[in-house]
Amino acid sequence: MKILVTGGLGYIGSHTCVELAKNGHTVVIVDNLSNSKLETLDRLTEITGARMAFYRVDVTDYRATAEIFAAHTIEGVMHFAGLKAVGESVEQPLAYYYNNVLGTITIAKLCLEYGVNKFVFSSSATVYGDQASPLYEDMALGQTTNPYGETKAMSERILTDVTKANPRFAVSLLRYFNPVGAHESGLIGEDPNGIPNNLMPYVTRVAKGLLPCLRVFGNDYDTPDGTGVRDYIHVVDLALGHVAAFENLQPGVSIFNLGTGKGTSVLELVHAFTAENGVAVPYEIAPRRVGDVATCFADASRAARDLGWRAKRGIREMVRDAWRFESATKGTKGTFPFVR
Ligand code: NAD
Ligand code: UDP
Repeated sequence: MKILVTGGLGYIGSHTCVELAKNGHTVVIVDNLSNSKLETLDRLTEITGARMAFYRVDVTDYRATAEIFAAHTIEGVMHFAGLKAVGESVEQPLAYYYNNVLGTITIAKLCLEYGVNKFVFSSSATVYGDQASPLYEDMALGQTTNPYGETKAMSERILTDVTKANPRFAVSLLRYFNPVGAHESGLIGEDPNGIPNNLMPYVTRVAKGLLPCLRVFGNDYDTPDGTGVRDYIHVVDLALGHVAAFENLQPGVSIFNLGTGKGTSVLELVHAFTAENGVAVPYEIAPRRVGDVATCFADASRAARDLGWRAKRGIREMVRDAWRFESATKGTKGTFPFVR
């Protein structure tokens, strides 16, 4: 099928483009390059052997995006395009509501206008708020604590209402847990600008000597070693989850957790990184980060049952592939100053 992938040059979108191509789909990418690089398109060709159609377009631009729908017989959409930095969303709420909510509305509207009934949406475990883990898809949406999370909850509600009014519309809301790792080729991976907010890219940059020391945010949580526990999922498993969700789309809304169902603490991840890669990661214990919960992991049984999908890669593969990508990557990341 011909699938429009919004945000297809970003971290998760690019890995999903690879798996879609491997499964015989034709990919059309739209990305405004606000958080990605054009060179990723060449990397996708290197990995898949296919040159994917690419449009540098902002998905909040209805007219420009409509031209893509007019030029291709799109049969389904995977909507990854969005801003994703929680802290930034608190400082710039309008930018987040505008980009993420208007982007979803624009893409959904064009789907209806062009008779595209298959829609896969990038949601997040953040929509559960601070409810106790394991988190189940049937739980009510939780209290989101920042504008980013609210854009995901709002987009879920908008897409749900669209399917109620359009019974042939098939939407899969995929709630990601903590995507980490990189493609095994080392050609694509997570490459955030500036100082990373998330644990894994911070760890890889400390390991590479680009940052002096990891700050472990709290060791007094009610967890086995006191540090925060999360459900890390290899990005290639996540990408494969999208292919499974797309191929099993049913009219109406389906919701799936994409996680492993297993929690790993900050220190477990750091020790696994050092053991697997033989590289030290200096760290210090710092105060808790505002807004963090102690533990967050999925109940991953629905995706296993309904999609026949299960994450196969463990923490060792995640830290190995993250490090391979970081070791291979040159360029802007080396240029920012050391911070203490
Ligand atoms: P990313 O920033 O690497 O990728 C997003 C891509 O969308 C980027 O290439 C960016 O340039 C593009 N983009 C943003 N706004 C756009 C717009 N208006 N028009 C066109 N392109 C636009 O992020 P990612 O980690 O790959 O995340 C993909 C999606 O998954 C996002 O919607 C994100 O909120 C969601 N998500 C990510 C995580 C995570 O931890 N990475 C967790 C849960 C959900
Ligand atoms: N974390 C940390 N130091 C960092 C970044 C993150 O100790 O520099 C911890 C954080 O407190 C949480 C876990 O690592 O327990 C995962 O954080 P991340 O920001 O990657 O994901 P999220 O908070 O969205 O689950």
